[in-house]
Amino acid sequence: MNIILIGIQGCGKGTAIAGLEKHFKLTLVSMGKLLRDEIATGSELGKTIKEIIDRGELAPFDIIESTLRKKLKNSFGDLTVFDGFPRNKEQAELLDSVTKIDKVIHLNLSKEVAIDRILNRLTCSSCAYITKKQLVLNDTCPQCGGKLVSRSDDTIEGINKRFEIYEKETYPLLQMYKENGVEVIDVDASRTPDEVLEDILKVINNEHKI
Ligand code: AMP
Repeated sequence: MNIILIGIQGCGKGTAIAGLEKHFKLTLVSMGKLLRDEIATGSELGKTIKEIIDRGELAPFDIIESTLRKKLKNSFGDLTVFDGFPRNKEQAELLDSVTKIDKVIHLNLSKEVAIDRILNRLTCSSCAYITKKQLVLNDTCPQCGGKLVSRSDDTIEGINKRFEIYEKETYPLLQMYKENGVEVIDVDASRTPDEVLEDILKVINNEHKI
C-alpha cells in the first residue's frame, strides 16, 4: 500500500511516522529528511539545498526528482509512506509516473497551533527524534544521545514562507487526488500523538469510516 501524508508544517507528520515505524516495517520517503541527509554529507549539492531550505523555499524539481529516484532504487516495501512529497502538482505527476497511490491522509491543523508547535520543537540531528523544548533538560537526545537542535528553517520568516507555499501549492493537491478517485482521509491533528496515530492505523488497516 502506498500512502501520502499531507499537512501543514508542524502538523505532526514526523511524530506520526515515528509511531507508525513501531507498528510496521515501512518504506519511508521523507523528502525533507532525504534533503537534510544530503546537506549532512557536506557536498556542493548539499550546500545548495541548505540555502534553499533556509530561505523556506521549495527545492527545484530536478533535485527532487533525482533524490526520489535515488531513494526508490531499493524497491517499494509492503507499506510505503510519502512524507513532504509531493508538494505541488508537478511533483504529484512525477509520483504518478513511478507508482500508484492508494490513500492520502490529511493531517488537519490550524496555522496558529502549527506555529506554536514549530517554535517549540527540537529535532535530533542524528536520529530525527522530535520533542518539545519544555520536555527536555538539555540538548541530548533521550533516544540516541545525539544533539537536539532547532531546525535552521524554523524561524518566523521561514515558517511564514513555508505556510504560503503550502496553501498555494500543496493544499490543492487534496482536491486533485479526490477528483482523481484517490481516497483522501481527514485526520484531526490537533489531538495527542497517540490519538492521531490511532486514526492513521485505522486508515492503514481499512477500519476507518468516511
Ligand atoms: P520538511 O522536513 O518536510 O518540513 O521539509 C523541509 C524543507 O525541505 C522544505 O521547507 C523545503 O525547503 C525542502 N523540501 C522538502 N520536501 C520538499 C519537496 N517535496 N519539494 C521541494 N522542497 C522540499
